[in-house]
Amino acid sequence: MRPISRSALRPHVCQTCRHGIGAGRRRFASQSGSPDLYDVVCVGGGPAGLGLMAALRASPITSKLRVALIETQDLTKAQAWNLEPTQYSNRVSSLTPSSVAFLRQIGAYDHLDVDRVQDYQDMQVWDGQTGSSISFDWSMETSPFEDPRTVATMTENANLVRALLRRIAQSGDENLSLFSNSTVASIETGSDLKPEGPDLSAWPVLSIKPTGPSESTPKRIAARLLVGADGINSPVRSFADISTHGWDYGRHGIVATLALGDLDIPPFPASKRTAYQRFLPALGGPIALLPLPNNHATLVWSTTPENAAYLKSLSTPSFLAMVNAAFRLEMTDLSYMMGMSSTSDISHQDELTWRTQHTALPSQVPPPATAVQEGTVASFPLRFRHAAQYVSPRVALVGDAAHVIHPLAGQGLNLGLADVASLSKTIQYAVSHGMDVGDLITLERYSSERYLPNAKIGGACDLLHKMYTVPGEGPVAWARSLGLGVVDRLPFVKSFLMKNAEGY
Ligand SMILES: Cc1cc2nc3c(=O)[nH]c(=O)nc-3n(C[C@H](O)[C@H](O)[C@H](O)COP(=O)(O)OP(=O)(O)OC[C@H]3O[C@@H](n4cnc5c(N)ncnc54)[C@H](O)[C@@H]3O)c2cc1C
Repeated sequence: MRPISRSALRPHVCQTCRHGIGAGRRRFASQSGSPDLYDVVCVGGGPAGLGLMAALRASPITSKLRVALIETQDLTKAQAWNLEPTQYSNRVSSLTPSSVAFLRQIGAYDHLDVDRVQDYQDMQVWDGQTGSSISFDWSMETSPFEDPRTVATMTENANLVRALLRRIAQSGDENLSLFSNSTVASIETGSDLKPEGPDLSAWPVLSIKPTGPSESTPKRIAARLLVGADGINSPVRSFADISTHGWDYGRHGIVATLALGDLDIPPFPASKRTAYQRFLPALGGPIALLPLPNNHATLVWSTTPENAAYLKSLSTPSFLAMVNAAFRLEMTDLSYMMGMSSTSDISHQDELTWRTQHTALPSQVPPPATAVQEGTVASFPLRFRHAAQYVSPRVALVGDAAHVIHPLAGQGLNLGLADVASLSKTIQYAVSHGMDVGDLITLERYSSERYLPNAKIGGACDLLHKMYTVPGEGPVAWARSLGLGVVDRLPFVKSFLMKNAEGY
């Protein structure tokens, strides 16, 4: 943690008294102009940073705070984001019901384009090695006469970001500054050198540089509370000298937008949608197919960097054949197909057709993927990081700046939104009780509420990843097969797991 100066712990001193205190103090004539002062400055305009701004603006208690957000990217482009109704971005997240409830509460959900959002009510998860399976739905908690309850809601990240920007814009521009196309070049602790000015010796002071056309971005601003929502390489975290622990998984997540063929057996009720995830220990991680509207789906396939490079090098028909094979074939067949020459006379599709005839298909196979939307196949390195703490004097971290987890349970962004819900509540509490929003005592409430749940979910995803990357039929495969089978047969354990994943 950065060294805490004496004044970080000192209560506010009014201007009149400060004239007396500062009278005999040494001053430097070369001190540059005073920075603009803000109550809350948020670095990062991803879902977490924008979520925090929207929440602060939505509450009558915090809406009058002077707030600023700094984002390197062009937020006007994010606000104007638009795609054809049958085209979907490849960066998609599943929102848990508690994230949806938070977005509704701050008035952001109304700004989502709901025609581009897809709920699902059932999730089929199975082990490609042992065949053991588990289904996640709420049927154990609802009667057969009720509509099935939503497990999660799929939304493109761009749709969510645009909705948050629209909600912020709706709150007006009084006391709000959005510095888009601007990057934080450096952050340092302010000083107390001007007797007539405020004591900034504990305040973070940010130097901002434009990265593109930007109107009236000030050069320096000071924050009573500085929030790092600035992603995995958080400059705010570095300023606060907060260390992280973690590792790279040595895996990449391949994403793509796919069109699906029809299911052999239509779902009942017709509106019921299913997400599918199959663990592929021999290939280094799970493949997941999550539903989007208009019979589309988003793919997240976690695998080794070599397999990821191979998959990305394939022609579209071969790529589709590999995706369909990954949900249907045995591990040995898949390992063979992953090494097939892309110039051989036998195509991946021929190989899949031939091998499918000799394979007993799992009962929960998704509909076949029939097309890949152009330009959507991409990959991201998968990593685990957890900050040693989320707060330090006048600093708080939220979202990926605080924690980055394996995406196999689709929880990263949900944890970020839960952080934001908690931090905005903490700030509301401080304002309504006359407390300093940057004070460590104020911020401890946020940290104590969020640290353990995030560690628990991040740790569970890490454990699942490790268990499901042990190939073969050894004791680990036996244990995980037994574990899945037992959980699937115990409704109260399953219900407990689902409630935990939901954030309740
Ligand atoms: C393959 C994959 C699939 C995933 N699927 C899911 C899922 O299904 N569900 C889920 O909940 N999560 C999922 N996640 C995780 C989720 O995408 C992230 O947790 C989430 O996007 C993080 O949001 P954030 O706002 O914290 O950070 P980011 O989105 O990284 O935003 C950080 C922002 O800070 C800005 N910034 C950085 N430095 C500066 C600077 N110096 N000055 C100004 N601005 C700066 C950046 O430009 C960026 O806009 C997935 C992740 C991956 C890789």
